[in-house]
Amino acid sequence: MIYFVFASLSYWLIFDKQTQNHPKFLKNQIWLEMVQANKSLPVMAVLTAPIFLAEVRGYGRLYDRFDEAPTWWYNFFQFPLFLVFTDCCIYWIHRGLHHPSIYKYIHKAHHKWIMPTPFASHAFHPLDGYAQGLPYHIFPFIFPLQKIASVALFVFINFWTIMIHDGEYVTENPIVNGAACHSLHHTKFQVNYGQFFTFFDRLGGTYHRPEASMFEREIRMSQKQWQKDAKECADVVREIEGSDDRTYDESAKKTN
Ligand SMILES: [Zn+2]
Ligand SMILES: [Zn+2]
Repeated sequence: MIYFVFASLSYWLIFDKQTQNHPKFLKNQIWLEMVQANKSLPVMAVLTAPIFLAEVRGYGRLYDRFDEAPTWWYNFFQFPLFLVFTDCCIYWIHRGLHHPSIYKYIHKAHHKWIMPTPFASHAFHPLDGYAQGLPYHIFPFIFPLQKIASVALFVFINFWTIMIHDGEYVTENPIVNGAACHSLHHTKFQVNYGQFFTFFDRLGGTYHRPEASMFEREIRMSQKQWQKDAKECADVVREIEGSDDRTYDESAKKTN
């Protein structure tokens, strides 16, 4: 429900529809993104259910009352701790998914979208979505986590995942892995593997800072920039995937 409601709202209210005329936008892309997400979400849910069940049956370190926290300030500290822990795990899992022996079988499904829309946010191979979701469920087996905080963080993660795919480059903040950083991951493939922060990419030498021009719509959405992006991206795709099996939307380009 979060995916459908908020990806739809993001598409209607935030996503720049002009992106659909980009030379790297696929034929029927939004439909394909939805189909991929719909096929994967039930499988991801079934795979995640055992660990989630263990969590809610009390095998983890979920707690109810705020005074059950190790110290009072842990009730606040758990939020940044959760984000940093999961960001670190996702960085390495995501980087591992780009290993040439795994990439084409599992993670390639999410890289079909070179110019993603908010509907690409959950459009993964089911094992990919499961693997990248694991850190959220491992966290409460290692660290205490308040139950309402757990639900709030779950909703936040899903919002964030939609937001980094909406093409609206809100922040130039060098610490935050926002939509600008993640859109570079979709065009350059082997940079910006992080989810929330740029820290682990900087540490792992994979950080690619978004150029200042990306925050100026006139430049970013210009034909000149698009042709440059498309050429660079075609080279990257050839290098990583060999041949390109995507079908681009030729009709949209002509109308622009
Ligand atoms: Zn993505
Ligand atoms: Zn990736």
